[in-house]
Amino acid sequence: CKNGRDIWVKLTVSPMWMQGAKPDYHIVVIQDITGHKQAEEQVHQLAFYDSLTRLPNRRLFLDRLQQAQVHSTRHKTNCAILFIDLDNFKTRNDTRGHDVGDLLLIEVAERLRSSVRSSDTVARLGGDEFVVIIEGLSEDTVPAAGQAKDIGEKFLASITQPFKLQEFEYHGSSSIGIRLFRDGETSIDDLLKHADTAMYQAKTAGRNTLCFFDPSMQIALEMRTTMAIELRQAIARQQFKLHYQRQVNAEGTVVGAEVLLRWQHPERGMISPMIFIPIAEETGLIVPLGKWVLQMACAQLKQWEHDPDTRNFQLAVNISARQFRQLDFVDEVLEVLRKSEADPLKLKLELTESLVLQDIVHSIEKMEILCNAGIRFALDDFGTGHSSLTYLKRLPLEQIKIDQSFVNDIATDPSDEIIVRTIIVMSNSLGMKVIAEGVETEDQRDFLARNGCYTYQGYLFGRPMPIEDFQKLLSRFQKI
Ligand code: C2E
Ligand code: CA
Ligand code: CA
Repeated sequence: CKNGRDIWVKLTVSPMWMQGAKPDYHIVVIQDITGHKQAEEQVHQLAFYDSLTRLPNRRLFLDRLQQAQVHSTRHKTNCAILFIDLDNFKTRNDTRGHDVGDLLLIEVAERLRSSVRSSDTVARLGGDEFVVIIEGLSEDTVPAAGQAKDIGEKFLASITQPFKLQEFEYHGSSSIGIRLFRDGETSIDDLLKHADTAMYQAKTAGRNTLCFFDPSMQIALEMRTTMAIELRQAIARQQFKLHYQRQVNAEGTVVGAEVLLRWQHPERGMISPMIFIPIAEETGLIVPLGKWVLQMACAQLKQWEHDPDTRNFQLAVNISARQFRQLDFVDEVLEVLRKSEADPLKLKLELTESLVLQDIVHSIEKMEILCNAGIRFALDDFGTGHSSLTYLKRLPLEQIKIDQSFVNDIATDPSDEIIVRTIIVMSNSLGMKVIAEGVETEDQRDFLARNGCYTYQGYLFGRPMPIEDFQKLLSRFQKI
């Protein structure tokens, strides 16, 4: 408009003919529909938003929940609904008056909204009931539950902060129910009901607390927390042991070993690294733990140097992502190596594809420095990630390790047979060595040998075992 105001207009153009095929003139009608648009917007607000807090209402919430479900099914990530109910709200509302109650709800809405990402949905279902949808949690259930719990705890903490409402200072708390979901198997109504049920459990449990709908989730999380604490003490208490699994060549001669970490728990017995490594990663304990493994491995290499039978053994050490990402990773490896006086040429670090690809430029940088110092690299679990040839070519790798899942099925699954063949051909053409892990049968070994893979690791040749047994077996074989 002339006065600088923006308005919505509807434009209608009608061509007019006097004679001939071309129109002679047009009639243009411009209509100001700003009022109409505003009314429409208002209707939308009323239909989908809560007028007090301006948060999405139940209707929009259910719509978003549906979308989240579709999205999580497609992307295989977990989502969570957090059902939040203020403790003792009704009593306070009745004693202090509804105006104060309204102010409290507005403030709570604001606190919840500012505790999550803008892509997450915070909605008010009515009364003092709020629900939040968190999307894009971890693929694995227990870590996802951990993430949801962290957010829930953030909510609990933010609501226990005092509220200043008119002249009152209000101290409140809330109870939260959490329902994790990741596929379309449960209806959205049921999901909401489950979160509500869990919220009541939290109330029963004494308020200002959170509960999961699935009790096993709660137990798994608690176990994880306990394990994280015990893990911390386990290094000092010397509960970690290393097992050595032989790697052999085509003649069955041992050429080295992979070191595999074991946790001998005083009550729970031997705990698999599949369980405790992820926790060690999450808590950062993998850094000192990984250093310890490296020290032990280097000491072992040094010891092997004295014996002509073991002098040429290579020792492979698994490196986890968190450990590799440490700024001083390179220095630390070099220092451990220097102190041990072991031969760097015998030390092989196993990295996974996903670890390397996460930050390819820095990965190559670190690998190259270590490589120049003589250390070798193997790419672990190969075939399970998405390496492209271009990347692979740039990595200073000595060896590619065919993942055991492919080896397992070579005899039965024709597509795995092709994958294994392709990996071997590719490694050869890139000038990299190749080893197959998880070799359990003669058939698997023969298939691999026929296709050009001559180094193996697996139960067929030996299980991971303590160093004493490893040595004993060596000497027995040598006598034969
Ligand atoms: P990985 O590096 O892929 O290790 C190979 C796993 O396959 C080992 O399981 C080994 O015991 C098992 N295995 C070996 N041969 C066979 C076979 O013929 N058949 C079958 N079914 N399995 C076989 P483990 O020792 O339970 O280790 C599991 C994972 O834990 C390792 O997978 C590795 O990712 C991690 N890990 C183990 N030790 C360490 C460590 O010191 N540091 C780090 N960062 N990770 C470790
Ligand atoms: Ca490995
Ligand atoms: Ca592996």
